[in-house]
Amino acid sequence: MENHRSRLAVLSNLTRHSLDNCALFVQTCLLCAGDGGSDGLCTACRADLAPLPAAHCPICADTAPAGLPCPHCRRRRPAFDTLHAPFIYAWPLNALIHAFKYGRRLDMAHALSSLFAREAPDGPVRPDLVVPVPLFAARLAERGFNQSLELARAFAVRMAAPLDDTLCVRVRNTPPQARLERAERARNVADVFVVKRAVTGLAVAIIDDVATSGATLDALAAALKKQGAHRVDAWVLARVFYSKT
Ligand SMILES: [Zn+2]
Ligand SMILES: [Zn+2]
Repeated sequence: MENHRSRLAVLSNLTRHSLDNCALFVQTCLLCAGDGGSDGLCTACRADLAPLPAAHCPICADTAPAGLPCPHCRRRRPAFDTLHAPFIYAWPLNALIHAFKYGRRLDMAHALSSLFAREAPDGPVRPDLVVPVPLFAARLAERGFNQSLELARAFAVRMAAPLDDTLCVRVRNTPPQARLERAERARNVADVFVVKRAVTGLAVAIIDDVATSGATLDALAAALKKQGAHRVDAWVLARVFYSKT
């Protein structure tokens, strides 16, 4: 029975993998139900998503004068080297991410992961390893899937880099970050991740759907650097961004 189940899982992964990689497979646009091209979002709907403004911190992507680190990063530099966020967490992308995450819309992973390309149109430095932000086991059981893993899977295919979804574990549950103040967020996620193997000298890309303060990504990057990572880049689809102008 166990064997049968794991074979089914492999088969469904293979099917999804081949669909994800078939450029000729035209999909319906997630937003307008028109022709979404091979990535599942049409050009017009893609143009409706709010890009991260040029005036952002080069480290954590928070509001800052263009090219200058924000006050938080000047005070204490996060463990990740750069947080890449192509879009602001705003309508309609927030609705898409919500549907993907809580509506178990696994089919949306491919279209959403295509949005990472906006941040690095020429292709960023290829990571040695792609790692999803892990969910706590009980949260995973409740939700049924880890949205970060699905995005990381598609990201790894696009970057032609290996995915490792067993390297990191979340050892305790944490209250949702959105309800907490910035200082509480950092305390909330301290020591929450364990990296099980050494990653000496590797450049690691960590993937999540949304960044609020960046505290979760900071904590995971710190755990990876403790295990020898040479560089950690955090990638999210959207960042919560409050313009101060
Ligand atoms: Zn559309
Ligand atoms: Zn910053």
